[in-house]
Amino acid sequence: METTDSTVLAILQQRCPRCHQGPLFSHPAISTKFTEMPEHCPVCGQAYEPEPGFYWGAMYISFVFSTGIMLVIGFAVYFLLNDPDTWVYILSVAVASLLFMPFSLRYSRTLMLYLFGGVRYDSARARSGS
Ligand SMILES: [Zn+2]
Repeated sequence: METTDSTVLAILQQRCPRCHQGPLFSHPAISTKFTEMPEHCPVCGQAYEPEPGFYWGAMYISFVFSTGIMLVIGFAVYFLLNDPDTWVYILSVAVASLLFMPFSLRYSRTLMLYLFGGVRYDSARARSGS
């Protein structure tokens, strides 16, 4: 597995905050188990849930994502479809929210762990890979 020193890249790739190698999720985003995470990083052993209920706070982050998606879709519909009927907005936003839900949930958990997990990148761990 390739390693990146960049925290931004590690977040985008949903990798472990300590070694930037281990994947945070067990399954692909397009899967019924898209929120399933291993208990520990398979590469460095970092716990992915620092305390019970840690990811409840991720709901607020995913709420921000959802709001952003609604605004973007709302503006896109307005400009691309030349301000259509209200139902077109509702349908577009509903479909987009459903499509983006796995991504928004996974990225909100990833951000939660990086921002509030108290885990720092340890490049020595990344290099030794154990
Ligand atoms: Zn790790």
